[in-house]
Amino acid sequence: MRWGLIGASTIAEQHMIGAIRATGGEVAAVVSTTAARAADYAAKHGIAAHGSELSVILDDPAIQAVYISSTNEKHHAQALAAIAAGKHVLCEKPLAMTVADAAEMVGMAKAAGLVLATNHHLRCSGSHRTIRDLIASGRIGRVLSLRLFHAVHLPANLQGWRINDASAGGGVIPDITVHDADVARFLLGEDPETVVAQMTASGLGQGVEDSVMSVWTMPSGAMVMAHESFTHPFAGSGLEVHGSEGSIFARGVMTQQPLGEIELVTAKGRESVPFPAHNLYVQGVSDFLAAVAGKGQPAASGRDGVASLAVAFAVREAARTGVRQAVAYGGAA
Ligand code: NDP
Repeated sequence: MRWGLIGASTIAEQHMIGAIRATGGEVAAVVSTTAARAADYAAKHGIAAHGSELSVILDDPAIQAVYISSTNEKHHAQALAAIAAGKHVLCEKPLAMTVADAAEMVGMAKAAGLVLATNHHLRCSGSHRTIRDLIASGRIGRVLSLRLFHAVHLPANLQGWRINDASAGGGVIPDITVHDADVARFLLGEDPETVVAQMTASGLGQGVEDSVMSVWTMPSGAMVMAHESFTHPFAGSGLEVHGSEGSIFARGVMTQQPLGEIELVTAKGRESVPFPAHNLYVQGVSDFLAAVAGKGQPAASGRDGVASLAVAFAVREAARTGVRQAVAYGGAA
């Protein structure tokens, strides 16, 4: 597969260029908003074609897929242009700045017969897939509650648009709550119905929230509690799933690396649960390639990206208004 990168980003540099190459793909071109930056990025990463115009990628018939990792407000227009040019799209979360725009991306890809996937990496991890299997196989009985701990400290090199630019899609809710929404949907196999929430800017956020806590209702009656933040250096991450017959405690699993621990507690006692330690992003690209080949589904589809965005925006609206919000999926749930 020949790929074009839309966005000369940190995530592409740290994870996705390697993941594309690990699956046998070629990173054929990179596009940035500035030509000089694209040239520097291309030289640093051994990418042949570069430029500031999408046409560098979209006019090349040998490029079959694009990976979009620009700032959030650009995803929608770039994805529509790529789809119009006949390219499959692996797009970063959040898919767009509104649920309607994200749904439009899904509709256009479907009409064109192209794959649109969302790069929700956590559901690609061995830990999350193992937890989902534990739940689905009935090991903890009926799920009563899920608690998501995703309060981290935003690295200094990422303290730009994420903490000070609402117009670029900044704020912890579009950045991390979308991931937690996807995790909840992935693990429990159902979609949050209503949310209550509070948010604050407690240290980093300049005009956008840097911390949020929310509680979600699920159709089954299970409750979900989620905590996301950019300001917590020592909180660690994890999740707990509590059921009528057992509990799952997972620590250090809300991460880009295949790390963490899972413990299952039932009436029989405590057991440590092993899980595969494959690279999350390689798994995501592999699943995307399978979908393009017609041999499977992407790890997270475009509709999954619409749904996670819908939950995140409901959380932000609930926190802004102080009023419980029904999640408006725009037909995606
Ligand atoms: P970056 O800030 O590194 O990159 C985003 C854009 O900012 C780039 O495309 C680039 O624009 C511009 N930029 C980056 N560095 C510089 C620089 N030194 N000078 C000038 N411009 C710069 O963001 P991330 O890589 O962290 O995030 C990109 C996207 O990926 C976001 O949508 C984010 O939500 C998502 N993401 C997803 C993750 C996941 O695990 N799924 C993890 C991290 C991010 P241009 O291309 O125009 O030059």
